[in-house]
Amino acid sequence: MPDSLTRSFANPSAALLERRFDLPDEDATLAFGGRFAQAILQARLKNSSTPNERFPGLQVQLIGDLGAGKTTLVRATLRSLGHAGRVRSPTYTLVEPYSLATETGPLELYHFDLYRFADPAEWADAGFREYFDAGAICLVEWPQRAGGLLGVPDLEFTLEQEGEGRVLTARAFSETGKSCLESC
Ligand code: ADP
Ligand code: MG
Repeated sequence: MPDSLTRSFANPSAALLERRFDLPDEDATLAFGGRFAQAILQARLKNSSTPNERFPGLQVQLIGDLGAGKTTLVRATLRSLGHAGRVRSPTYTLVEPYSLATETGPLELYHFDLYRFADPAEWADAGFREYFDAGAICLVEWPQRAGGLLGVPDLEFTLEQEGEGRVLTARAFSETGKSCLESC
């Protein structure tokens, strides 16, 4: 691992790529969400360039305190992927599903918020595993609450307060995540 990469507390495995983004105001977060949406579409195209290859999906863990901007980022990503309706925080429902008609074809996206997750065993009981194996985009707030059941994600986004704004530290743990992060 190059010295420039810091280890993450949530995902201690070595990252393939780490990038830091300064988000001085909410508009900067919205703009990042737009770039991230395009990056997701590009990564999907790149990964399904041969007929036998299916896009494996993308798991993104969103880490940060309450108010750090996790839901804001998900909302911006969904808007840029063409979702016109409301984006509810899945604090009580645990997951909100979205079927998107993007410029490169249909895309399933699941927005999780595990803040109220009491017991990691709920994960198996709720049947969440299958969401992650279906070639979908899974954006997960409070992944720590699943106690490691999520496994190593493709991407980890950590949002931290800095002055009035935020700093986003992004780490990629898979080739799909890396190619996605490269084009953010
Ligand atoms: P979380 O889901 O992490 O609990 P939310 O996205 O619900 O956080 O809330 C974040 C709050 O911070 C919102 O009020 C939003 O307007 C604000 N915000 C989001 N991004 C930024 C930013 N880059 N700089 C300053 N404020 C931001
Ligand atoms: Mg939230």
